[in-house]
Amino acid sequence: SAPVLTIDGPGGAGKGTISRLVAARLGWHLLDSGALYRLTALAAVKHEVPLDDEPALARIAASLDVVFLAEGESATVLLEGQDATTAIRTEQVGDAASRVAALPAVRQALLQRQRDFRKAPGLVADGRDMGTVVFTDAPLKIFLTASAEERARRRHLQLREAGVDASLSSLLKEIQARDARDMQRSVAPLKPAIDAITLDTTRLTIPEVVDRLTELLTE
Ligand code: C5P
Repeated sequence: SAPVLTIDGPGGAGKGTISRLVAARLGWHLLDSGALYRLTALAAVKHEVPLDDEPALARIAASLDVVFLAEGESATVLLEGQDATTAIRTEQVGDAASRVAALPAVRQALLQRQRDFRKAPGLVADGRDMGTVVFTDAPLKIFLTASAEERARRRHLQLREAGVDASLSSLLKEIQARDARDMQRSVAPLKPAIDAITLDTTRLTIPEVVDRLTELLTE
C-alpha cells in the first residue's frame, strides 16, 4: 500500500503547517486527523448531543458528513454541506474536541475513515496517534515537539496576526492543560511511537523542519 509519513506531537509544535508544506512538496495526500475530532465536537454541539454521551457521539463520528476541499495550501472543510473551516478552529471547539477524543468509541468510529486517506502516491498524516495506532506500519514516523514556552509564544504571534490579544501566561497554562489531558488519557495517549524520530523544533525555522523531513524520507 501507499507510503505514510506520520507526524504526531503536542499542540502548537507546528504539525499542521509542516504537514501541509511537506505534503505539498511531495505531492502527497494530507490527513488532518485533529479536524475529524473537531468536526465531531462541532456536529455534536450542532445536534445538541452532550459531550459525555459516548454512544451518541460515536454515532455522530461514524456518520460524519464531511468533505475536505482543495487539499494542500488552504483546505476548506464542509460539514453537512456547510463551510466549517473557521468554526472548527476556535478554542472552544478545540477544547470540546479533546474531550470527545478521550472516548474510546469515538476513536474507534474514526479509525477506518482515517485509514481511507491512505492512497497513492502517499499520505502525510498529522495527529496524536498516527504512528502509535492508526498507521503503525508507516515507514517514517516523526514526533514533533517544542518547549511549552515556545509553543505559547508561537500561538501568541498567530493570534496577534489575527487581531486577538491574549496573554502569554494564560496561553502557556492552556497549552500545559491540553498536553496533560492528551498525555494522561487511557486511550491512545500522546507519546512517541517506539520507532519514531523525535524532532525538537524549538530552535528551528519552518523551512528547516520541512527540509529535515524531506531528507529523512529520502534516506
Ligand atoms: O490537532 P488539533 O488541535 O486539531 O486536535 C484537537 C484535539 O483532538 C487534540 O487536543 C486531541 O485531543 C485530539 N486529537 C486526538 N488524536 C488525533 C488528533 C487530535 O486525540 N489523532
